[in-house]
Amino acid sequence: MSDNPGTAALARMLAEAKRVVVFTGAGISTESGIPDFRSPGGIWTQMAPIYFDEFLASEEARRETWRRRFVMEDTFKAAEPNRGHRAVDALVRRGKVAAVITQNIDGLHQASGIPPEKVIELHGNTTYATCLDCGQRYEIADLRAIFEKTGAVPPCSECLGHVKTATVSFGQSMPVLAMQRAEQETRAADLFIVLGSSLVVYPAAGFPQLAKHNGAKLVIVNREPTPLDQMADLVLHEAIGDTMGAAVGVN
Ligand code: NAD
Ligand code: ZN
Repeated sequence: MSDNPGTAALARMLAEAKRVVVFTGAGISTESGIPDFRSPGGIWTQMAPIYFDEFLASEEARRETWRRRFVMEDTFKAAEPNRGHRAVDALVRRGKVAAVITQNIDGLHQASGIPPEKVIELHGNTTYATCLDCGQRYEIADLRAIFEKTGAVPPCSECLGHVKTATVSFGQSMPVLAMQRAEQETRAADLFIVLGSSLVVYPAAGFPQLAKHNGAKLVIVNREPTPLDQMADLVLHEAIGDTMGAAVGVN
């Protein structure tokens, strides 16, 4: 147990809770070396997002989307779960956390040992690609090798559909099943913990509000203030790895 009063309060709330949902954003993965979007100097300060419509409509937009993805590949490949991921995994193994709802696309919760069926990915996964029409899976390393030779990712070999990372772009519809499961888990929780999200991306940011309105306690651990801080029962503007590691007793 820690002498930091915030961490101790979080540890107490965890001990009292019966069914916890953890909700994560890009902030839990910065300590693994993956930059977030909205910290000062984050990705959005450097380039505008490419919307799904543009990806569908323009060869140039597809090329640029893939170029950006391959620039990030060495970072994604090298990233390993950090102390924050390990603390969440420990809570899942203890039976405290029923589900992890994540906005992240990096697969690091699964890499930390959490069974994939307990990780609800709201924005998909960037560690592989699929055909938008037939769903055929493609590996990033294979696509990268072709892109480096030809300057483009070719259409699906089965159906000629567009091949895209298995992520949800701005303007693309949310995954129906993941949204339903996230809502069910949120309604069933008595403690809802947000780790590293600016809570400005909707509909994802609606889940902490739903939890709170439904009677759960709400905890937010985020370096910077969020628009939902005022409705939370506990707000810690601290680093996630050390805060969660200390609260859960994991290194
Ligand atoms: P965000 O970039 O909007 O916000 C991240 C928040 O985390 C910031 O408010 C920042 O202050 C905080 N933060 C960063 N590092 C922290 C740390 N070590 N300890 C405590 N707080 C920390 O992230 P978001 O809300 O997840 O929204 C961005 C969207 O972009 C997501 O929907 C996600 O799909 C995508 N994204 C994913 C990844 C990833 O998978 N790792 C990375 C970048 C963006
Ligand atoms: Zn196809």
